Amino acid sequence: METVLTLGLDIGSAASKALLLRDGTEVLSYSVFPGGAGTAGPERAREEVLRLAGVGPERVAFTVGTGYGRNRCGADATVSELSCHAAGAHAVFPDVRTVIDIGGQDLKALHVGPDGALEDFLMNDKCAAGTGRFLEVMAGVLQIPVSELEAVGSEATEVAAISSTCTVFAESEAISRLSENVPIPNLVAGIHASVAARAASLIRRLGLQPPLAMTGGVAENGGVVAALGEALGIPAAVSPLSRFCGAYGAAIYAFQKLERKKTEHE
Ligand code: ADP
Repeated sequence: METVLTLGLDIGSAASKALLLRDGTEVLSYSVFPGGAGTAGPERAREEVLRLAGVGPERVAFTVGTGYGRNRCGADATVSELSCHAAGAHAVFPDVRTVIDIGGQDLKALHVGPDGALEDFLMNDKCAAGTGRFLEVMAGVLQIPVSELEAVGSEATEVAAISSTCTVFAESEAISRLSENVPIPNLVAGIHASVAARAASLIRRLGLQPPLAMTGGVAENGGVVAALGEALGIPAAVSPLSRFCGAYGAAIYAFQKLERKKTEHE
């Protein structure tokens, strides 16, 4: 019997993620490109994931879109970002009960059931503090690429406190600290701690049910991951697939939708 390929597209505010799944379970390939809805990001992520798997677009049986730009990525159906992150996190971390998703412009804490269903959530999408945007603004002030924050922060001798919770005020605070000659690694450690404190507070409000896993692009910053573990007293699991959990969940939903269609026709 021919295998069934389904595609998940997670079109975020910062980046477009794609993941290709075989028979609803096996990850064939995944890709990420900068730029979300209204940019070339979604199409490039889709093309790349197919290229990596060595298949043409005609082989994809069903595509589900999720994320901010889900309605404009040419998917066959859409599913909410929260449900996709829950399903994707469950696939990557089978025992997970609490997921913290830190993306480019929002922060979400989710409770996931033993079957991967979304049970409950809290979200902050009103403010850049505690999100990837905060890290991008701070990286801009320090003139360090976001991808190098982790390495720079690992050289810290102490954590320089960033007391402002507002991104705009925190930016001015970082500039003042720089003029006071606070070492950059210490400032970076303070920036990581600030994001982690925001995430920890959202998780506590929802209720921390271990095990905990982290999804979204900020999971690629080990400095934030470690600071979150310290703030909560338990580690947050991460994986190379953390950033792709939304796309993974979308590809799982795509497979399920296809199966449902088949049984309806039988
Ligand atoms: P969205 O879904 O909103 O588009 P993502 O989940 O893709 O956002 O996360 C984007 C964030 O991930 C960026 O703001 C940045 O902070 C972080 N990020 C992206 N790439 C890297 C990297 N290579 N290393 C560390 N952090 C990264």
